[in-house]
Amino acid sequence: MKIVWLLAGIIGLAGIALAVFFFRSLSKPKTSQNVVHISQYKKKTARGAQKCTYCKKRVDSLTFYSGHEGKVIGLCRDCSRLAKHQDLMPI
Ligand SMILES: [Zn+2]
Repeated sequence: MKIVWLLAGIIGLAGIALAVFFFRSLSKPKTSQNVVHISQYKKKTARGAQKCTYCKKRVDSLTFYSGHEGKVIGLCRDCSRLAKHQDLMPI
């Protein structure tokens, strides 16, 4: 009878070990997916956070010009009209 209990114990421990391994393998891809989502979100916000040099508005797309002192200026659509009047060169 002792051998039967020993076998039951071994099977039980193996079952617990398998369950732990199974849940770890389940939880790993979830965390990595979360990291991917966060990095994608950051990329999107960084792209949308560009400010116009003149009016300081946050715009999705800026047009870049080389300024008078060699500085690069990012301008929104409205301000790029002003830049054309000032003969700034688009990059
Ligand atoms: Zn502007």
